[in-house]
Amino acid sequence: MQFDVRETELAGDVMAVSLPQFRAVDEMGRNAATKRGLGATPEQLPAAPAHIRAGGRMMDSHGRTILDLRISITDRCNFRCVYCMEPDVQFQPRENVMTPGEIIRMARVAQSLGVRKIRLTGGEPTLHPQLTEIISGIRATTDVEIAMISNGSLLTREKLSAWKRAGLDRMTISIDSVRADRFARVTRSTVTPEDVIAGIEMCVAEGLTPLKLNAVLVRGQNDDEAVELARLARRFGVEMRFIEYMPLDSAHAWDRSLMVTARETREAVEAVFPLTPTNMDDAHSTARTYRFTDGAPGLIGFIAPVSNPFCGACSRLRLTADGNVRPCLFSTTEWSVMKLLRGGASDSELANFLIDVTWTKLAGHNIASPQFVQPARPMSAVGG
Ligand code: SAM
Repeated sequence: MQFDVRETELAGDVMAVSLPQFRAVDEMGRNAATKRGLGATPEQLPAAPAHIRAGGRMMDSHGRTILDLRISITDRCNFRCVYCMEPDVQFQPRENVMTPGEIIRMARVAQSLGVRKIRLTGGEPTLHPQLTEIISGIRATTDVEIAMISNGSLLTREKLSAWKRAGLDRMTISIDSVRADRFARVTRSTVTPEDVIAGIEMCVAEGLTPLKLNAVLVRGQNDDEAVELARLARRFGVEMRFIEYMPLDSAHAWDRSLMVTARETREAVEAVFPLTPTNMDDAHSTARTYRFTDGAPGLIGFIAPVSNPFCGACSRLRLTADGNVRPCLFSTTEWSVMKLLRGGASDSELANFLIDVTWTKLAGHNIASPQFVQPARPMSAVGG
């Protein structure tokens, strides 16, 4: 089944949410009943210790500090990637989705607590009709780095230039295959790899750099494309990053055997293009990066959340399109900030809320543990 790129643009009727009602195990290990599509309420959230609140920073009980906020501005997408979103996924009613004003306010409060980087994500953020307004609002009220991740299917020079003028600093583009048949099979869309490659060229031309490219290799789908994807890094002088397939698919079909490890991918790339570690990765970075030993431009990055978790250096917090804060990508509890946003809360109440949620961050995601529970909501709802 394939989707026309225009089919799911935000204009048009909104489908009702039919996410299964789920019980969540909260970050403190207790069970908390959650409402459909909404997280646990602020009243259920334990307060962080007074000295942590007074510190005015988002610090967790394991000593990590939040510097990076990922905001999903829409849960809609024009792709249905096999590892992410099933064709029949249903979206939040529009009234449950944060408004541009709410997004901008959360960005401002997060910056006041030390956030240095905001990544706009989704769903597909470029589907949002008020994207330029969101970027310019964040730029007008903060001095954070503003990055955005997109599937690259709907980019034009005009749009990119408008987003850049509004304050966008850089882009990441996802591309899982350079073969048209594969690309169609993985994304279940009518978009071609050439469309996305044209988007990559436009980002470079607009100076939305350093540009990163993301790929997820899934065994039996595109696991033989590591080298072809690595060639994109050399061709455009950008960083091609391979992300291990994580148990965050809406089909709940993830199985370790379908995941291509970072190590396996590195060996495949190195069989053709020897790599040398850059040894320049930031301590909080998700990727381990390598340059081409032959001196060609571009970098290769490996993100190994499953085979080599980097939770110990995590500096990230996530805000979902429907106004829930997730302490971790793999959290089974989300904390609803919407209630505060729409209930007249002050900025300092929002700040305390973010500090309290951060305090609940677990030490790690425990994917390897037999007790691991896959979160009910997929990556597309959480914001990658
Ligand atoms: N639509 C945008 C895009 O395509 O990049 C932004 C949202 S997408 C959810 C963000 C990133 O999450 C993409 O690079 C995608 O490949 C990645 N992703 C989605 N589901 C994943 C999964 N189960 N495991 C690993 N990465 C995943």
